[in-house]
Amino acid sequence: MARVELRGVTKRFGHTVAVDNISLTIEDGEFLVLVGPSGCGKSTLLRLIAGLEDVTEGEIYIDDRPVNDVPPKDRDVAMVFQNYALYPHMTVYDNMAFGLRMRKFPRDEIDRRVRQAAETLGLTHLLKRRPAQLSGGQRQRVALGRAIVRDPKVFLMDEPLSNLDAQLRVQMRTELARLHQRLGTTTIYVTHDQVEAMTLGDRIVVMRDGKLQQVATPHQLYAEP
Ligand code: ADP
Ligand code: ADP
Repeated sequence: MARVELRGVTKRFGHTVAVDNISLTIEDGEFLVLVGPSGCGKSTLLRLIAGLEDVTEGEIYIDDRPVNDVPPKDRDVAMVFQNYALYPHMTVYDNMAFGLRMRKFPRDEIDRRVRQAAETLGLTHLLKRRPAQLSGGQRQRVALGRAIVRDPKVFLMDEPLSNLDAQLRVQMRTELARLHQRLGTTTIYVTHDQVEAMTLGDRIVVMRDGKLQQVATPHQLYAEP
C-alpha cells in the first residue's frame, strides 16, 4: 500500500495542456475514481503516475519519495488497460509470469504468485490457454492477474471493464470491490460508468480541461439534491 501525492503537476503536449496544475493526495489504501469527459486528461494523469510520461511541471511522490526521475519499472505501480494488452502467443500462465520474469524473480516465487493470483481470480483451470481461447471476462481477469502478481504499491486502472458486456461488467465490478477489500491496494481507477464510480470509489475526482473540477465522496456527488 502507498500514498500517492501530486504537487502542482502539469503535463503539456506542445500547446495542449493535458493536465493543468493538479495537486491531490491519494491516501494509503484508498480507491480513487477519476471521471470526466473524453480528453480531459484522465489517462495522462495515470500515465504520469506510472512514469509512462514525464511531468512538465510539478512533482509526484509515492510514499513521500519523489518519483519524477524514477523509471516505470522501479515505481512499484501496476497499470491495467482497457484493451487488456495481453501477449497473444503466450499462455495465461506466461502472461501473468512475464512481468516477474522481467524483474528476475526466482522461478518458484513466480510460480507461487501466479498460482495464487489464478486461484483468487478463478483462472486456475485456464492457465494453459492462450488469450484467443478466453472470453472477454476471462481476458480481463488475466490482465488483472498480471497486475496482482507483482503485488504493487499502487494499481492504476484505465477503464478496465469498458470492453465487457453489461452482465460481465456487473460481475467484474463486484469482483474488483472484493479484491480491493482483500488486498487494500491503493487504486486509481478511470471510468465513464457512474455506477462503477459510485460503488467502487472512496472518493470521486471529476476532471475537466486538465483540472480538478470536484473532489467528493460518491454520496456527496450523486446522492444529494
Ligand atoms: P482522457 O483520458 O480524459 O480521455 P487524455 O489524457 O487521453 O484524456 O488526453 C488529454 C489531452 O491530451 C487530450 O487533448 C489529448 O488529445 C492530449 N494528449 C494525450 N496524449 C497525448 C500525446 N501523447 N500527444 C499529444 N497529445 C496528447
Ligand atoms: P482514451 O481512451 O484515454 O481517450 P486515446 O485514444 O485518447 O485514449 O489515447 C490512446 C493513446 O494515444 C494514449 O497513449 C494517448 O497518450 C495517445 N494520444 C491521445 N491523444 C493524442 C494526440 N492528440 N496525439 C498523440 N497521441 C495521443
